[in-house]
Parts: sequence; structure tokens; C-alpha cells
Amino acid sequence: MNQRINLVGRTSAEIAELVAPHVDRPFRGRQVARWIVERNASSFLEMTDLSKQLRAELERRFAIEEPEPVDIVQSADGSSKYLVRCADGVEVECVSMREGAKATFCLSTQAGCAVGCTFCVTGAIGAGRNLKPHEIVGQYRVMVRELEASVERVNIVFMGMGEPLLNTENLGRALQVLYESVSPKRITVSTAGILPGIRWLASLGKRPKLAVSLNAPDQVRREDVMPIARRYPLDELFSTLRAFPLERGRRITFEYVLIRGFNDGGADAALVAGLLHGIPSKINVIPLNEDPEHFPDLRRPDDDTINRFAVRLRDSGQTVTVRWSKGADVAAACGQLRGRRSSSPAPPISLQPR
Ligand code: SF4
Repeated sequence: MNQRINLVGRTSAEIAELVAPHVDRPFRGRQVARWIVERNASSFLEMTDLSKQLRAELERRFAIEEPEPVDIVQSADGSSKYLVRCADGVEVECVSMREGAKATFCLSTQAGCAVGCTFCVTGAIGAGRNLKPHEIVGQYRVMVRELEASVERVNIVFMGMGEPLLNTENLGRALQVLYESVSPKRITVSTAGILPGIRWLASLGKRPKLAVSLNAPDQVRREDVMPIARRYPLDELFSTLRAFPLERGRRITFEYVLIRGFNDGGADAALVAGLLHGIPSKINVIPLNEDPEHFPDLRRPDDDTINRFAVRLRDSGQTVTVRWSKGADVAAACGQLRGRRSSSPAPPISLQPR
């Protein structure tokens, strides 16, 4: 039996070109592409402006394959966590966060993560395989289909499972497809600081926004929570970021998970401000999402400490947002995704706070 070609995870131009030899008129290829990329069709049957005969021919030669949603959990704050299953049975999670008519989709790029940040459940699972373009774009398609009528604008953040910049080939292809629906200005790629990946991003003609997980104010403490910092030290990271090309009006976002007694002091805020000095940037302070089961020694600072830290940064001239996490009640918040049904435990690890 001939292998059907999957049309998901391809640009409109690629779809039109693939379909062209099998349709009666040149514009039919573009019509099929529109159904898949713009109208998010999940079956050739939906393409009602094509003849039955043509739909049957397309079905014979092509597939519309994407991960299948197998579990959707709603948070009290309006966020939804999706567990999706790929054709080989691998499961990953992605999250949609609502704010009025706007939605932010948090997409995964790997089924696990080898980076091993010590506060992150995904890191505790360990390495998983890279997701393919149709599996990355498929998460977007699944969530758009759920929200469709009620959402006017979608932002995308690559902050789900995995390190996007360790999967640049598939990420790059997925971005080309997503740009047809979402402007690069509304897409953010978040990295733990993979320098070759940041340089790759810098080399792209059309670039999404860049976010970097900082999480500590100095090299020693960064190595404690982000082992990848041994390979890509803080000074090299910042010299690469200082050379990163930024479009007019853009800034680099820094994420800083605030852990009680570890990185939440006034002196730490001053050190962070020093690191960021001279870089067009903003910083998201993310109070730790506690997980006593996996990280019993890690605590979230109290609200006064969080606010003091943010004010100290702001007084140093930084643009600061405190991310009071969404979706924490359904384990959909930052660092909580694991790609399994929520009853399955991840292996326990711990970090002694200083
Ligand atoms: S925080 Fe991101 S980079 Fe770090 S282990 Fe978790 S998924 Fe990987």
C-alpha cells in the first residue's frame, strides 16, 4: 500500500505544490491549502467546495494527521490543559490560557526534556524525542478548534514541554506554518540558554520573540537550578544576548522563577538588574509553583517578598511583571507539564535551597 503524505505541518505553498498534480484546476491546490492552514480542517470530507471524486482522490493520496486530544482539564481560572497523543503513542501536554477574547497557547516541542532544571517536572521525566512539525503545529490546531468562535487573537509561547532550541529543525518548519496564522510578533520562543540555538534564531530572516529562563543572579546558583549553565555559562549567554538582533520596539524577555531563600533577596534583585543593564528587556518574575510531591524542599516566597523583589527590580529601571501563575490547580502552570495523565507520578528529585 502506498504511504499517504501528511499535509499538516506544511505551508500553504508546500501543500498546493504537493496537491497540484492530482487536481483538475491550478487553483484547487490553493483551495486545499486554505482548508488545512486557514480553516483548520481535520478531514477531506469537510472540504465541501471540492467534488466528492476529488475528495476521495485526496483521501487516497494524502493524510491530515496530527496529535489527537485524549484529555482536556479545565482550570478554575479559565486555562485548559490538553494531553495530546501522537501517532506512535507518545503523549505531550499543551496549555491554553484565556484573557477575555485573547488566548495564549503554550506549545511543547519535545516529549520530555534533557535540560533537567531542578524545579521542573518535565525536566524530572528526562529526555524525550523531538516533536515533528505536524506534532507541534497540531497542538495549535487542536486548541484553535476548541476555542474557535470565542477567541479574537492568539499568542503562542514555546514554553511547554522541552527545550525548543534543541529541536531547531522541526521548530523552524513549524514556525513557517504558524506564521501564516499568527504574526511572529505574537510568537515567543523560550530557551534555557542554548547558545547555538540562540545564534540560529538570530540568523532567521523572520524571527519570533526571544525569552530566556534566567532563574538565578549568578553562575554558581544558576548551575544549581539549571545544570545546562555549566555548558553555556552566564557570561557567554549575556555576550550572545547583547549581540542578538532585535527588531524595532522588541525586547528580550527574561523569566525568573522565584524560590524562597534561594534567589529572592534584595541583593539578588540588584544582581539581576546588573546583568540586564543595557539590554532592551523585560523580566517576568514567576513565583515558584510548589510541588511538594516532587520538590519537597522548594517553597514559593510569601507575597511581601515577591512584591519587594519586583519593586527592587523596577526601581533599578527594569520593566517587571509578576506572573501570578495560571492553571496551577490542574498542574498546567510553568514547570508542571509532564505529558501524562495527571495521576501518573514523575520521579522525585530535590534541591536544597540556600
Ligand atoms: S524548565 Fe524548560 S528547559 Fe528546564 S527542564 Fe523544564 S522544560 Fe526543560
